[in-house]
Amino acid sequence: MEIITNYINGKKVNYSNEYLDVYNPSTGEIVSKVVLSNKEDFSKAVNSSLKAQIEWSNVTPLKRSRIISKYKNLIENNIEDLAKTVSTEHGKTLEDAKGSVTRGLEVVEFACGIPHLLKGEFSNNVGTNIDSWSMRQPLGICAGITPFNFPAMVPMWMYPIAIACGNSFILKPSEKDPSCAIMLAELFSEAGLPDGVFNVINGNKFIVDNIIEEKNISAISFVGSTSVAKYIYEKSAKNFKRVQSLGGAKNHLVVMPDANIDQAVDGIIGAAYGSAGERCMAVSVAVAVGGIADELVEKIKINSNKLVVAPWTNDEADMGPVISKEHKNNINKLIQTGVDEGAKLILDGRNINIQGYENGYFIGPTLFDNVTPNMEIYKKEIFGPVLSVVRAKNYEEAISLVNDHEYGNGTSIYTSSGQLARDFTTNCNIGMVGVNVPIPVPMAFHSFGGWKNSLFGDHAMHGREGINFYTKLKTITSRWPENINQGPEFVMPVN
Ligand code: NAD
Repeated sequence: MEIITNYINGKKVNYSNEYLDVYNPSTGEIVSKVVLSNKEDFSKAVNSSLKAQIEWSNVTPLKRSRIISKYKNLIENNIEDLAKTVSTEHGKTLEDAKGSVTRGLEVVEFACGIPHLLKGEFSNNVGTNIDSWSMRQPLGICAGITPFNFPAMVPMWMYPIAIACGNSFILKPSEKDPSCAIMLAELFSEAGLPDGVFNVINGNKFIVDNIIEEKNISAISFVGSTSVAKYIYEKSAKNFKRVQSLGGAKNHLVVMPDANIDQAVDGIIGAAYGSAGERCMAVSVAVAVGGIADELVEKIKINSNKLVVAPWTNDEADMGPVISKEHKNNINKLIQTGVDEGAKLILDGRNINIQGYENGYFIGPTLFDNVTPNMEIYKKEIFGPVLSVVRAKNYEEAISLVNDHEYGNGTSIYTSSGQLARDFTTNCNIGMVGVNVPIPVPMAFHSFGGWKNSLFGDHAMHGREGINFYTKLKTITSRWPENINQGPEFVMPVN
């Protein structure tokens, strides 16, 4: 049985002898064991990061950029293997896995521009013969704690930028699909990254708590569920760390009566059931406005019935299994809750049977109509292939639903009215917004982040926000006077 170790100081090692099983969700089989790191693993990672960061921060941004550029090529050359690893441990289709690695790769591409991105501001003559400029300097050691649903992409939102800025980085991947992180770290070493600049430490809450309490770690980036995001945010702040903590979601897609219904149906189905609904930007609520609900529900039902639910090894697969048996059971329970609450179950994915994969964690596309805001299935993030349709009388009711929900990650409106779209983008209380686009995930050179209970902290991920998060600002005011004996000044200098 393969053992997934840590990656510390350029080597695959582990000191702990405790392991956790890693499953293939398509078959339900154990594929490997991942180390649950102990204090010794953690101390080795911190010591190596500490030592490496001092030298790395003195490598010029241009040289850093050249290493990152080589890294980009290596990821491109290995994308097939990376994607297969994602699919094996997560279950998503191979094309979807490749897409997710590519979205991470785009952050690496963005980080190649680090000499430009680190340029500061300069003002000549802020006072007579006095100049002032700003620069952004690395924080030291930064850490990332990441979820199971994007084992390559979400870590890649973080460490390429942190490292490009001159920090070292310790990644604690999800224990459910940890292999990809090790592959990504090995490729970075191959590209020429000095040992210790990027360490990967596997484990669970024990390591997370060590990261939070470690005085040599300056900043923490977290992505995962809201309950853990809140915990990380509060505890990290108590330990005086910079923190960005991204949580769960319940993304609404509003369909106006003037929308192109077929386009909306395609958008909803892809965004609700792609990756078995295990995306933080998945659409889990479709808001049907005015008289279009019957047609919308009927078309979603007909087209969703055609989806191929299968393991990633089947090229025809539109969606694969969910991550674990436990998660499957939870989703099935929530589907029953929806039925008990009085929502109308149009498609029931609970009893899907895939020949040869009876032990896989599959759930078919599930569709509820007549869902109302007081229901548990509306309030909770289900994180599975379950779509709720809520009927709204008009636009005002629709936008209130979006704004009143506790989560604020993404939303989208389908309409042919520019005026309405403008009102929606301006007034919705949400971090990432789409117009006739189902999953408005910002590109690497913009920034990713939700509002409300979907993000705690001041900075979103990657783009300019990422650069600012992983650096601290220094502003210098400088004068080179010919005659320095002007005597002390007791008045605030003004111009
Ligand atoms: P999770 O919160 O269970 O785990 C995330 C990370 O936290 C893992 O590395 C895990 O080991 C660690 N962890 C788990 N429980 C912990 C605890 N009690 N104390 C300390 N650390 C703990 O999340 P998940 O199930 O892996 O991922 C799914 C969740 O992530 C969903 O809620 C999804 O919406 C969210 N997510 C959000 C975004 C976003 O951008 N907002 C992106 C991807 C996923």
